[in-house]
Amino acid sequence: MASASETTNYFLRRAFKALELDPRYERLLMTPAREVRVELPIVMDDGNVETFIGYRVQHDDSRGPFKGGLRYHHEVEIDEVRSLASLMTWKTAVVGVPFGGAKGGIQVDARRLSKSESERLTRRFATAISDVIGPLRDIPAPDVNTNGQIMGWFFDQYSRSNGFSPGVVTGKPVELHGSLGRGAATGRGCMFAIRECLKHDGKAIEGTRFVIQGFGNVGSWFAKLVHAQGGKVIAVSDINGGIYNEDGLDIPALCAHVDNTRTVVEFAGSKPVANAELLTLECDVLVPAALGHVLTEQNAAEVKAAYVLEAANGPCTAEGADILDSRNIQCIPDIWANAGGVTVSYFEWTQNLQNFRWTEQKVNTELERIMVDAHTRIRAAMETHACSMRTAAFIVAVQAVKSATDMRGLQ
Ligand code: NAD
Repeated sequence: MASASETTNYFLRRAFKALELDPRYERLLMTPAREVRVELPIVMDDGNVETFIGYRVQHDDSRGPFKGGLRYHHEVEIDEVRSLASLMTWKTAVVGVPFGGAKGGIQVDARRLSKSESERLTRRFATAISDVIGPLRDIPAPDVNTNGQIMGWFFDQYSRSNGFSPGVVTGKPVELHGSLGRGAATGRGCMFAIRECLKHDGKAIEGTRFVIQGFGNVGSWFAKLVHAQGGKVIAVSDINGGIYNEDGLDIPALCAHVDNTRTVVEFAGSKPVANAELLTLECDVLVPAALGHVLTEQNAAEVKAAYVLEAANGPCTAEGADILDSRNIQCIPDIWANAGGVTVSYFEWTQNLQNFRWTEQKVNTELERIMVDAHTRIRAAMETHACSMRTAAFIVAVQAVKSATDMRGLQ
């Protein structure tokens, strides 16, 4: 299996080829502008000192300040961060928000950390990378196992040395300069993406059967939103296991169960399903909303869905994606499908720079407009280049980044 960054570059090369791009752009647009690795020693609650490793990779800033999430996970490593940073460059470009791409993370099993250990680690990380971030330089956001509280500590720590700087991170709590609608934004954007694709094919969310891997921020919001529109969520999973009900799960009741138990497992009226099995359940839309590289050459031939909606970043390996394409399963690529989060992060950032709050309705309306406009551009590229939706999304993005790079100049 190719590494995470090789996988991203594999998809990217198809767009370069379709655009007949001069080879000199390959190096320029593929490799990151800056990679930072930091050691983060903190005192644990038991008095011991542990040292964690953190990364920030800044891929490209030709279209605006670097932008991308922070992930706390024991599998965080430089190659994956590199790949996720690159995906952010193409994601911000495909939806046309004025940012570049970056990503960061700490190699840590977040479930092991107490709240105070998590706070100390976050503050240490904010200080360690403070020279390379800033509201007009690089703006982190939440990702796997990071949330509004962590963004709040990050904002506070940065502001201690730099003055009041709410625009240094997005995804902050609403009470602390966050944006209304940011929590739901990625799931809502995914909902708009599948709605547009279904509409294009003469279908609707109502009655459509969804299977969702991952029930965190993105998966749970997506489930709530499609359920509210008459979609049938027949299976979901989290790190502890999966649940299934062929008649459709009661999503509001499931959310209450998760609030109480912190897991989807043992939800009343559902049958257990193993995580691997969940990906091959028969459904209309399979939604990977957890981690990367889950649809591979091992299981892509067994997928029994008409659409794969990439709510997670990089859920398909190169081989997995090619198998899905060859089986005419419509893969809705991550760089568009889950761009709702960074889009509302952009709204949060503009609100912070202006110290002016938008209504939730304005946030949601503008998000919908941006997702729908991107869909129109991607469909046009699919027609012009007779290519997959993924290659078309990369084509739209590469054209935007290349133009900005050319216009800024290299002197
Ligand atoms: P999260 O930490 O809130 O939730 C992750 C979920 O995945 C949890 O339910 C967890 O239990 C589950 N999970 C982890 N390992 C699993 C496994 N092996 N099998 C099944 N479930 C597993 O994270 P999130 O913010 O919802 O992010 C999910 C994905 O969406 C990531 O790929 C992230 O990069 C991507 N994404 C997030 C945002 C955002 O705004 N949060 C934006 C764009 C993309």
